[in-house]
Amino acid sequence: MTLRVTNALHLGSPVDLLVTGERVTTLTPAGRQPAPAGCEVFDAGGLVLMPSFIDAHTHLREPGFEYKEDIASGLAAAAHGGFGAVMCMANTNPVNDAASVTRFMLDRARQSHPHGPRLYPVAAATAGLEGEAMSPLAELREAGCVAVSNDGRPVGNAELLRRIMEYAADLDLIFIDHCEDPHLARGWKMNEGAVSGLLGVKGQPVVGEAMQAARDIMLAEYLGLPVHIAHVSAKLTLDVIAWGKERGVRVSAETCPHYLLLDESAIDGYNTAAKVSPPLRTSRDREALRKALKDGLIDILVTDHAPHAPHEKETTLDEAPGGITGLDLALGLTWGLVCENVISEAELQRLWHHGPAEIFHLPRNDFAPGDPADFFLMDPDELWTPTPETLYSKSCNTPFLGQTLRGRVKHHWISGRRVV
Ligand SMILES: [Zn+2]
Repeated sequence: MTLRVTNALHLGSPVDLLVTGERVTTLTPAGRQPAPAGCEVFDAGGLVLMPSFIDAHTHLREPGFEYKEDIASGLAAAAHGGFGAVMCMANTNPVNDAASVTRFMLDRARQSHPHGPRLYPVAAATAGLEGEAMSPLAELREAGCVAVSNDGRPVGNAELLRRIMEYAADLDLIFIDHCEDPHLARGWKMNEGAVSGLLGVKGQPVVGEAMQAARDIMLAEYLGLPVHIAHVSAKLTLDVIAWGKERGVRVSAETCPHYLLLDESAIDGYNTAAKVSPPLRTSRDREALRKALKDGLIDILVTDHAPHAPHEKETTLDEAPGGITGLDLALGLTWGLVCENVISEAELQRLWHHGPAEIFHLPRNDFAPGDPADFFLMDPDELWTPTPETLYSKSCNTPFLGQTLRGRVKHHWISGRRVV
């Protein structure tokens, strides 16, 4: 089957896209080539064309916590949010530390979304995420995992971490580290600083993140292996990553929309919707992260989509779990950064598509002949207000609820098939 998308805007220029089956045939300036006979024509009406985003860090909660989210609802949120591929973390119940769990996740994805978004499970680095014994990484790789992480339960034991990094590299799996010193960070509710002092709640200092990142980067250099630093929240961590990159260490890093748009003041008034791990930091950290998107210190954006049920978040700051949902809102939140000239449209595509495809060796769409036809059309000017009714995720624990966003996904194709 052949599809021709006409009258789309790509990086500011009007284009026509021709797709045959699951692949891109050509992307040409608008009106240059006549439509092949018999092809389906879709008039984009001036909407913006982008490659489907890839989210390298989500929590889909299935198996075990389906009341928060399941693979079907999480992938529905992904499809509507412009994501053609999603990497899901291992902190399910049971933990994804066995091939049977990976296969179960992939089966659930195939059943609920046979045409995508594609699901790429991340293997638990240690059995039960307990930080004691390494998971059977070879069988997890064989079952379909694309990366390894102990996300949510940082590995304190550096000797074990070394073996995980070595073993993962042998299997061509990227190690993703949630950097948090397990002792310094214990019992925290928010960033340690002026606001935690005012509220009288226990904070987590930025050194708790930065020193683990420094440990990982030193190990990566010593071993000559890659490491990926998850959800960077602090300027100090960026300084450490800059040091590693200058030395030629194969370190890559991600951050999330909430660290670019909010700071610790969002939690003032004991707002549990803004409690997240790692915590929102200061406005200085936020500005440094925005700059790091431009200069390449931050390689990719991720949502760290972390759904929680209302009864879990509607409690005290002490008891509420950390986490913000993100799949539905990521495009609207980060298109706002393009509108504000914080990043360019090309940088947005690099951060959400080309970067993660490269780091995790996933299919990549440069709109070149033969590339996977994973793309969406967005309205760059549509203003909309997220409410629980407009979100596809089962949970809506986001501090951006009720705020006006600019930019929304209107149509989405994965492998040449319309999914939205
Ligand atoms: Zn994490």
